[in-house]
Amino acid sequence: MTNNFNWPVSAKQLLEKTENLTKSGSWCIDVEANTLFWSLHTYELFERSSHEPPSVDEAVKYYCSPYDQIILDAIDNAVEKSKPWCLKAQVITEKGTTKWIKTCGSVFESVAGKTFLFGSIQDISSSHANLTELERQTVALNTILDNLVDGVITIDSKGIIQGFSKPAERIFGYQASDVIGTNVKILMPQPYRREHDQYLKNYNKTGKKKIIGIGREVIGARKDGSTFPIELAVSETDTPNGKRFIGMVRDITQQKKAAEKIEFLSHYDELTRLPNRTRLIEQVETWGAEAKITVACINIDYFRRINSVLGESVGDEVLAVVAERIKLNVDANALLAKDLADKFIVAFTHAHCPEQASLAQIQSLLPLMREPVQTSHSHKIHVTVSIGIATLNKGTNSNHALVNAESALASAKAQGRNRLSIYQELMQSNLQHDYALETALHNELECIDTGCETGLKCWLQSKVGRDYKTLGAEALIRWQLGDRMVPPDEFIPLAEQLGLIVPIGHWMLEQVAQVIKETNKPVAINVSPKEFLHEGFTAQIFETMNRVGAPTERLIIEITENLLLQQHQKVLSIMKTLDQAGVKFSIDDFGTGYSNLSRLQWLPVSELKIDKEFIQSAFESERDRNLLDSIILMAKQMRVSIVAEGVETGLQATYLKDSGVDLQQGFYFHKPQPEKDWIKNITSSKSRGA
Ligand code: C2E
Ligand code: CA
Ligand code: CA
Repeated sequence: MTNNFNWPVSAKQLLEKTENLTKSGSWCIDVEANTLFWSLHTYELFERSSHEPPSVDEAVKYYCSPYDQIILDAIDNAVEKSKPWCLKAQVITEKGTTKWIKTCGSVFESVAGKTFLFGSIQDISSSHANLTELERQTVALNTILDNLVDGVITIDSKGIIQGFSKPAERIFGYQASDVIGTNVKILMPQPYRREHDQYLKNYNKTGKKKIIGIGREVIGARKDGSTFPIELAVSETDTPNGKRFIGMVRDITQQKKAAEKIEFLSHYDELTRLPNRTRLIEQVETWGAEAKITVACINIDYFRRINSVLGESVGDEVLAVVAERIKLNVDANALLAKDLADKFIVAFTHAHCPEQASLAQIQSLLPLMREPVQTSHSHKIHVTVSIGIATLNKGTNSNHALVNAESALASAKAQGRNRLSIYQELMQSNLQHDYALETALHNELECIDTGCETGLKCWLQSKVGRDYKTLGAEALIRWQLGDRMVPPDEFIPLAEQLGLIVPIGHWMLEQVAQVIKETNKPVAINVSPKEFLHEGFTAQIFETMNRVGAPTERLIIEITENLLLQQHQKVLSIMKTLDQAGVKFSIDDFGTGYSNLSRLQWLPVSELKIDKEFIQSAFESERDRNLLDSIILMAKQMRVSIVAEGVETGLQATYLKDSGVDLQQGFYFHKPQPEKDWIKNITSSKSRGA
């Protein structure tokens, strides 16, 4: 190409001028000679002090990895395939400065047939920094969006999806690439699809927004066609490409399920799916205030024992079987409910099922329940129930009937379980009897206050060690009323009801302190929950033991599992205070109550007393013996000592000893005896050097 242009400068000068203007350098490679030419600006870019041109290899070394390899490949490609290139790379200059550069190269064939490569090089560090900041922000934003629980979906004003975050992919089951560019209606089932078109049209026309900024519940459709509840909040933004709606979408399936479950549980029992007590009362109320009703409370005997030893899944199966047996055996119009733990309630209205018929149906449950329950764990479980029944012939509220049925149930249990007790009968006989006892008991306490001789007696029953020698005792109260010896089971519950248990307990403590003082043996005292939780209980113990001069380390307090279910914090703090003074705690009647072994390990308990009925039944059924063995094993692991009470035969004693029971108590060894006799025995055996 020729023209008449008069060049004012040489080619080299022109190159330098242009380079100054564009802030770029040039280079040229003689491929055969493997030599390199750099322009002035290229030297400056690489901050190379000597203007001696580097070799091609030296020049490539300025490039950071992986750009050194990329540039070598580009050179090869250009030589072999005449392919030009343009790329961004990171270099480190002679002085150690890191720079981002853009370099382009191409082939230049000389006349002599020699191959040259030439190209430009430009420092783009500042613009690269800006770009990466933007890129960094975008990456950060996407990371946030991808890690949200909520899905983020962007649509344009026509409803076309522009963005679909990772969580949105998870929620809807679509890949972003499946849905970007399609209408957002794809994510909605009918009739939302139809409504959405209309909604967008209206909005674009009137600007009236129904859902902007507000979270609301809608239904979404997954790729597989299933629908699910979502919470949707939409915001609006203007972009250079027009209006965009950004929807935050949350899958609320789990939340909804939880809410439904809570609703269900407030009226139903989860396991048996029967109505609960609240629901039953609501239903009974619909019978009308004038309805005559019969209510039965049915309680599985020793259910907790099954639960704590065989595990809750076995317990659950037993509950389900019992529920089924009751359901099959009572009138179809009767209402059946499941109360707390192991209690069922049946309510009859006499309009459907007269009193005698309902009684007969409930009565027939007793033999029916004795059929063994075969569980899937191949345990064969013998279940019995205790039942309390109350009838209301005048319109009274159903809760009242329930409370009556419950006290009848308590009486059925007190009479030895596996039986039915009817409320009315109970009232007639018990009330008169209780009244007479109540008066006598008040007199007794007055007598204690004034110092006259009391009919209350402290008896002691020995506890023996592995060698069957007496190690200590349990104090048991007796009441001499005229020529009758009233057993504690008869007056202690009454004293508890009347609040008289506190002064009675105080009297007993006084006797026990004396026994400890005289024998220096550990003595256990029974303390009912009312006494234990009574204000000043600990102070009274310290005061009495101190005054009498009996060491607190010798005092054992027997409490029942029931206490541990009440006012947990208070019970724990009382136990801790006494424990610090060396007082020991023993869990009485273990195996009949509601707590389990694992709960006990948080308490300062040093002894478990296995209930005497439990001991007895262990020698009657293999299942109960297995339960007993498990309890002993678990207690060993928890490092609490085991006391077996109610041991009546030598066979039992040997078995228990061999099973690892530390202490035994029962008629086989010693019957309870008056305080004085026990002390005499101990002190004489001591002096005999036993
Ligand atoms: P408990 O604490 O379970 O006491 C053990 C009961 O088993 C005692 O009945 C005892 O006489 C009896 N017993 C001991 N060995 C055998 C045996 O080999 N076979 C059988 N069948 N029974 C045996 P007791 O003295 O009639 O006491 C009954 C309950 O009254 C006690 O049960 C305890 O809960 C309560 N009690 C006794 N004294 C007091 C007291 O001072 N204060 C309080 N709050 N309750 C007391
Ligand atoms: Ca006891
Ligand atoms: Ca006991």
